[in-house]
Amino acid sequence: MASPAMRRAIRVRGTVQGVGFRPTVYRLASAAHLAGFVRNDSEGVWIEIEGEPRAIARFPDLLRLEAPVLARIDGLEIAELLPLGETGFRVLGSAEEQSVQANVPADVATCAACLRELFDPSDRRYRYPFVNCTDCGPRYTIVRDVPYDRARTTMDAFTLCQRCLEEYKDPGNRRFHAEPNACPVCGPHLTFVEPGRPKLEKDEALRAAAKAIQAGKVVAVKGLGGFFLAVDPANEEAVAALRRRKRRPHKPFALMARNLEEVEKIAELTKSSRRALQSLTRPIVLLRAKPGAKVAPGVAPGLSEIGVMLPYTPLHHLLHAEGLPLLVMTSGNLSEEPIAKDNEQALEKLSAVADAFLLHDRDIHTRVDDSVFRMVDQSPQPIRRSRGLVPDSVPLLFSAPPILAVGAELKNTVCLVRGGEAYLSPHIGDLENIETFQFFEEVIGKLSRLLGVEPTAVAHDLHPDYFSTRWALKSGLPRQAVQHHHAHIGSCLAENGSRGPAIGVAFDGTGCGPAGDLWGGEILLADLAGFRRLGHLRPIALPGGEAAIREPWRLAAAALADAGVALDCLARVAPMRRSAVRQLLEKKVSTPLATGAGRWFDAVSALCGVRDEISYEGQAAVELEAIARPGDAPAYPFETEWRLEAPWEIDLRPTVRAIAADLRSATPASEMAARFHATLAVAIVQSCRCAREQFQVNTVALSGGCFQNRLLTESTRSLLESAGFAVLLHRRVPPNDGGLALGQAAIAAFRLSESQRP
Ligand code: ZN
Ligand code: ZN
Ligand code: FE
Repeated sequence: MASPAMRRAIRVRGTVQGVGFRPTVYRLASAAHLAGFVRNDSEGVWIEIEGEPRAIARFPDLLRLEAPVLARIDGLEIAELLPLGETGFRVLGSAEEQSVQANVPADVATCAACLRELFDPSDRRYRYPFVNCTDCGPRYTIVRDVPYDRARTTMDAFTLCQRCLEEYKDPGNRRFHAEPNACPVCGPHLTFVEPGRPKLEKDEALRAAAKAIQAGKVVAVKGLGGFFLAVDPANEEAVAALRRRKRRPHKPFALMARNLEEVEKIAELTKSSRRALQSLTRPIVLLRAKPGAKVAPGVAPGLSEIGVMLPYTPLHHLLHAEGLPLLVMTSGNLSEEPIAKDNEQALEKLSAVADAFLLHDRDIHTRVDDSVFRMVDQSPQPIRRSRGLVPDSVPLLFSAPPILAVGAELKNTVCLVRGGEAYLSPHIGDLENIETFQFFEEVIGKLSRLLGVEPTAVAHDLHPDYFSTRWALKSGLPRQAVQHHHAHIGSCLAENGSRGPAIGVAFDGTGCGPAGDLWGGEILLADLAGFRRLGHLRPIALPGGEAAIREPWRLAAAALADAGVALDCLARVAPMRRSAVRQLLEKKVSTPLATGAGRWFDAVSALCGVRDEISYEGQAAVELEAIARPGDAPAYPFETEWRLEAPWEIDLRPTVRAIAADLRSATPASEMAARFHATLAVAIVQSCRCAREQFQVNTVALSGGCFQNRLLTESTRSLLESAGFAVLLHRRVPPNDGGLALGQAAIAAFRLSESQRP
């Protein structure tokens, strides 16, 4: 005899809208002969099921097990209800409901099922560049408002045809409520524009674009989160033309490869980098380049690694299929401006860069750049966190009022706290540029609209001249100032689910200290509430201020002079310029002091003859790492007087003297580079030992842009772990200033949540 029916409600929280969750519930409920309904609402998904008790009891586990790939279940709550005698299971719409608390999902790479349709001549979406389903396609980039449904995306310009509408309404269809659903009859289309030639449409446009790239032209391609400039990476002249026109002499270009086999021809793959490349995010992954690959040296000059990604939109797959196994795919912008997203904007701004344009008529509402990862200790570490990762959140350990953290100046991102979650924005860029600053304001507006909260406080850097700080000062909101390196460590603690205390090693280029001095090689004792500066690298003079950052040879000169070594090691530099810098140093005019580890990397890079002048941030350090001989290298000498009354100094003058001696004996640069990395690692570990002895803290957090350096990070971590430390690294947000806003947000949230306690 059948037991009496039961009815239960299940509340599901997390990323459960726009990811095919309701069709899954429908399928599972129908298969289990359960009645009831499922609907989206303001907190996620609400399910009511009625039927046989054992099937009801099993349902939550089944749901977790069978949840769609894109869903992230953060919580399931169950409540008993009275049976209603309902028969049949229904999927209810969400259009009328407010879903301000639910998360908008990230953009997702084309799924296997859609890919099959794309290349199936009998399918109605054969070669249709906008094919998508509930498992894949654009999301964040096309959403204007919440709740996430078609009317609030840029797809509202296209009216679903009968067949698409049937798919959209059918709970059993894999396109049920796929908001960007489209087909060649009703959806967006391609256009190819080449000045002086007639416009081409649809498939002709695609083929013409591929031909143009093959002919060595630069083609601006409208992608998912913005425009890309595509050229043939095997064509040295095309790559050189792109560099010239973009005024980007050295900064590496990323490549897109048709599939893993193509990646394997040009780069070394490991199990974990393979997995990172294929993840739903489809990021750019920095990989060791294979010598002799058919890639022009101009793609990543001076580097041993290249950035590679796999195609993530149907359009990419179609371009590759036109006989282009590899493409240079670099952001469609001018130097440091934000990536272009509108057709007119691209035609105007990129006309001096691109020979032709592959456009389409689906608007991009929010631009996103590609996400970039580097493998550190066989696991991916973000360097830039954007497409496919936003608007995902980092959970905090406590709940706080809505705080907006506005980040740093370069590689800016912002972060908004809602309840116990911190939402880090996509990469915004360098704020000194007016277009980027507008984008910064746009992202703030969009983030608070999507999350349905207005910030009631703002967290910012101590640097008074950062555009983000100025914005915070003008916002009229209550403010929380957070020191730059404290924020770096706060970011690392927050993403590791810790509130400290930890020994924080914050190594970066420059950040503002509490007294307006320049910091960047800092050993801190920190938690989310505050910090104490325990030690730092010896300050290095910056002869000429900003000029010293663009011309690392000036830093080499300063380091030599400081160590009492003659400047003739820098024989490459014209004697006039050398003596001008010597005078600045002697008179102490225009020579601010900075403790930045990044500045020491610059100095040593120039000393070793690797890089005297840079064209992109971090270039000297990146190239120094690239030439460093792999394997163990002995550290150079350095001196420290461990003390506690005042911060100790890691004195690198003995290091500089040893490098100068190595230069005289013609030691290879690869050897010196390796030994300098080892020196910093040893200095960090000794500092941490000293801090542990004094404060009984055994956890070390490594943060700041210098920890993008794999050699430094891996050697430091391994030495620390052998010394018994627990080491926290960045895995969810970048160690560079792109992750800073998370730290500002966590620290401000912690302070405000503390102060609100009775
Ligand atoms: Zn799909
Ligand atoms: Zn259609
Ligand atoms: Fe920094």
